[in-house]
Amino acid sequence: MNSGKQFPIKFSQNPNSLSKKEREAILKKPGFGQKFTDHMLIIHYNDEKKWHDAEIKAYGPISLDPAVCVFHYAQEIFEGMKAYKANDGRILLFRPEANAKRFANSAKRLAMAQLPESIYLQAINEFVKAEKNWIPDQEIGSLYLRPFMIASKPYLGVKPSPEYLFMLIASPAGSYFSKDAQSVSVWVSEFYTRAAPGGTGEVKCGGNYAASLAAQQEATKNQCDQLIFLDSVEHKWIEEMGGMNIFFVFKDGTLLTPPLSGTILPGITRDSLITLAKDKGLTVKQEKYSIHQLIDDIQSKKISEIFACGTAAVITPIGKIKNSKGEYIINEGKSGKITQELRKSLIDIQFGNVIDPYQWVKVVK
Ligand SMILES: *Cc1c(COP(=O)(O)O)cnc(C)c1O
Repeated sequence: MNSGKQFPIKFSQNPNSLSKKEREAILKKPGFGQKFTDHMLIIHYNDEKKWHDAEIKAYGPISLDPAVCVFHYAQEIFEGMKAYKANDGRILLFRPEANAKRFANSAKRLAMAQLPESIYLQAINEFVKAEKNWIPDQEIGSLYLRPFMIASKPYLGVKPSPEYLFMLIASPAGSYFSKDAQSVSVWVSEFYTRAAPGGTGEVKCGGNYAASLAAQQEATKNQCDQLIFLDSVEHKWIEEMGGMNIFFVFKDGTLLTPPLSGTILPGITRDSLITLAKDKGLTVKQEKYSIHQLIDDIQSKKISEIFACGTAAVITPIGKIKNSKGEYIINEGKSGKITQELRKSLIDIQFGNVIDPYQWVKVVK
């Protein structure tokens, strides 16, 4: 995948790697985010040496001084990607440069050191190669990759850390919304918001998730699987879910997704689906859409499908929207035709089952 100058990454084999039999038992039923591969990757940074001492080594606990910045002021960012096994045995990544770029952008917003995109991509490539036996077959799922970075200087002053750790771990993942994706119910919170203009809503930092958990609890209390956040200024405009972007499908086949206004995470799945839908001849609008209009449009049957999207679950149909006033069922609570079509088109490209006209897929070599 990479050419040109290589950044040195040391490889130290985990002497306690699982046996083939143990690994294969996990790969048959991987779940999500519970089992991790034999190795992890770490790259150190400090202001003097810059990025140095990169190593792939045995997965396991790391030791940190209790004063390190991340524990106190939450200087942490992450990414979510997947490695896919094609039927011909090739190992594929989906738009990894977009993740590398977004990661650098997140680092900038949190005043963290920026890992050069070339090193990010090389790290992903070498790590996936080292853990290739951990990628489930495509009928089962894929290998979820979690790159992240923490501020690692022991220091309680409120200023950007001069030291960081970049790490990469991986977890085999079942496609938990397999063949016909199961629809979910979503709660619309009238109190909690996720992101304010000028805040961190458009970057992938753990802090955004920490702030969303109480809202998620409210959703659970209201018998909903997930939640939709409205904008923080007018409490009116639909933004996104806690960790997925959202699309509305109208009866005439038009798609609408809220515009990237600075408070919405620019999903790579979102961006890819906009392209795929347009190439299928569908109109895609990126426009503000209010919760009141949505409820009207569901009731008058103008809305025929709603779905959420992101790397982990790809596309999740939304069958029910609920708020304090009532609940509204979409498409009899089932996954719709356009939802299914887009999902299949995207998955087929990601797994290398069809020709990729967009050069989104990168082969791990
Ligand atoms: C990661 C994420 C998404 C989806 O992004 P993808 O690049 O499609 O995986 C959407 N919303 C939030 C808040 C996220 O953190």
